[in-house]
Parts: sequence; C-alpha cells; structure tokens
Amino acid sequence: MPGGFPDYSEQLTAFDLPTIINSHYFLPFLPLALAVTMQNILAFKELISSPRKVVITTHVKPDADALGSSLGLAGYLKKKGHKVTVITPSDYPDFLNWMSGNGEVLVFQKEKPKAAEVLISECDMIFCLDFSSLKRINELGQMIERSAAKKVLIDHHLEPEKFADFEQWDVSAASTAELVYRLIRELGDEQLVDKGIANCLYAGVMTDTGGFRHPNTTFDVFQTAASLVASGADPSGVSKLIYDTNTLERLRLMGYVLSEKLNVLPQYRTAYITLSTEELKKFGSQTGDTEGLVNYGLSIKGVRLSVLISDRKENIKLSFRSLGEFSVNELARKHFDGGGHKNAAGGQTFLSLEETLKKFLDLLPQYKDQLLAD
Ligand code: 5GP
Ligand code: MN
Repeated sequence: MPGGFPDYSEQLTAFDLPTIINSHYFLPFLPLALAVTMQNILAFKELISSPRKVVITTHVKPDADALGSSLGLAGYLKKKGHKVTVITPSDYPDFLNWMSGNGEVLVFQKEKPKAAEVLISECDMIFCLDFSSLKRINELGQMIERSAAKKVLIDHHLEPEKFADFEQWDVSAASTAELVYRLIRELGDEQLVDKGIANCLYAGVMTDTGGFRHPNTTFDVFQTAASLVASGADPSGVSKLIYDTNTLERLRLMGYVLSEKLNVLPQYRTAYITLSTEELKKFGSQTGDTEGLVNYGLSIKGVRLSVLISDRKENIKLSFRSLGEFSVNELARKHFDGGGHKNAAGGQTFLSLEETLKKFLDLLPQYKDQLLAD
C-alpha cells in the first residue's frame, strides 16, 4: 500500500476489540491512543498560539538524538512564527553539522556566556530536550533555573527532575526525536514537517535505536520512521552522514582500542576499555571519536556489561552499556553521579583514570549474581 499503512481492517472482528486496543493493530488507525501525551496540552497549545521567544537546549556533548530533536523542534517552531535559538552546552561531533539549522546553533562557551544568559533570561519559553536534570548542563542549568520563562521538558530518560511546567516525557520512547514528532502531531501540524526537519528527527530515531537494532526498536519506532520518510527524510543519506564519515584517525583509534585496550572479565561477563588523555591525543581525537566504542565490548559473545572510561581532563567520563535486565542506569546513578536508560547510561568521577577503573572493578563482586543471571 504505497504512501500509507497496511489495511488490517479485514482481519478484525467485533470479538477482537480488547486485543485490538492492546495490540499494534490499533496503532495504524489511532497512533497516539496508547502513547503518553503531554498532560496539559491545551494550555501548551494556547501558549504557543502567539509568537514567542524560544530557547531550546540539550545535554553536554550532544549526540544525534539530542541535536536532531533540538533542531527538528526549532525548524517546526520557526515555521509557526516563533523566534528560536538552539543553545548547546558544549560542542558536538562534526558528523552532526549537516543538520538543518546547524549554522545558527549557539555553542555555549566560557568566553561567550553573556549571549546565552541574555537569551535565557529574556525568552518566554525554554525547551529542555533529551536530558532531565538541570545540573547535567552546569552553568546553563543555573541560568535556566533563574529564568522566569515557561519550561518544557521533552525526554525519554529515567527518573526526571521536576522542574518543567510542561512535560512530554515517556521512557518507553526510544528517542527524544520521536517525542518531538509526537508533539507536532498532537498539535495537528504533521504537514509542517519538511525534509530538513524530517532528516533531523530521523537521525535521532535511527541512532538511539542503534540503527534499528536495539530492543527499543518497536512498531512505534518504525511507524515514526516511516512517517518521517514520507515527509522527505532520506534513510540512506542520513545513515551515510552519521556512520560513514570517519576520519582515518578515528578508525586508527578504533583499531588501537580493539587490539590493545579492550579487556574482558569472563567471570563477571564484563568488558572494559580505558583511554587516557595521552592516548586520545595520540590519535588526534575529536569530539565524538569515542562514540560507539563501548558497544564493541557488548558485542562479544557472553558479555552483558560494557564500560568505556575516558579521561576528559575536566573529569573522567564513564559510558555504560548492558544487555537484558542488568540496569546500568542504577549502576551509574548509585556510584558514578550519572544516569540514563536501563541499558545505556553514563556517569563521571573526579578521581584519576586508574582510581576510577579500580572503583568500577571493586564494584563487580557485589553485582556478580545479577551479571551471571540469565
Ligand atoms: P553515552 O554513554 O552515549 O554518553 O550515554 C548513554 C546514555 O546515558 C545517554 O542517553 C545519555 O544521555 C545518558 N548519560 C550519559 N552521561 C550521563 C550522565 O552523566 N548523567 C545522566 N543522567 N545521564 C547520562
Ligand atoms: Mn536520546
């Protein structure tokens, strides 16, 4: 059925109703019926019914979902007549700079905090995307806290802080980009999604599902992706821009990590990688170059927990991935001042690289039963 969803109606009978409501049969007809929607959507609709000064921000070192959902939302709100600025708390990888609206992003830097501060204090609305704790964005978070603007949270991480006036929050969503798309639909504006917006949102959906491979790759995900493609998103083009634009240095770093730095502890079904500042420097590492490395640990047969520990000078960053019921969100939250999702989370320490590794390794015995459970 080109350009639409398959017609399931012939397969349904009156007796099927409870099954229909709880099944995906229902979704092609009423895609939002089972999804979590913004609670006070009417008040939100009213708020954005006249032109507003809007700031959109996201987490430090934005990934494709963080930046894609921010720029996708920005593109939409601009079409609605709002004045929109996307402010990122830090720089982001070069493989994201193709996104529509990228040229106008204000990268918050210590040297230029004034521009961001003025925008944040004078705007009417602040959207916080793909993160849910203001302390995760440091000084920007404090500025947002002080601002009288209405705050809107759009996120899919576990355990959000309560700071927003409006929340589009759903942990069952694979990506924040999907939640932005859902909001646009709830507002009845699907037809405003153009190619540029669709590509930004598609990038978020694609990457947060690991290229449609993780267990969060649901019917809803494919439905959103299909709608975005119908609006002009280019799956192969976006995939190429994100996954196949490596520098040679990045590939060399990957080779080095795989041959020299990937350690496996079979007794804990755990893999770990450490990277010092010297090692990162040796391979001319740029922002984003270590993204995805942690997944190689998890790709080893039998491994259930993988961590990448890298020295970022200002702190030590930990990136966790797990399979099945082992919650790296809990591990990161409890021991490494972090959080995230059950199977993908991050954290930090202000110890040395060696001390951080020791801290991680010393925790493993207490998690042994969970790591070995099937
Ligand atoms: P990554 O390992 O790719 O940096 O992050 C994995 C997931 O955990 C992402 O959803 C990311 O937003 C989240 N995350 C990473 N670092 C932190 C952190 O320090 N605190 C919290 N709350 N979440 C994090
Ligand atoms: Mn995300």
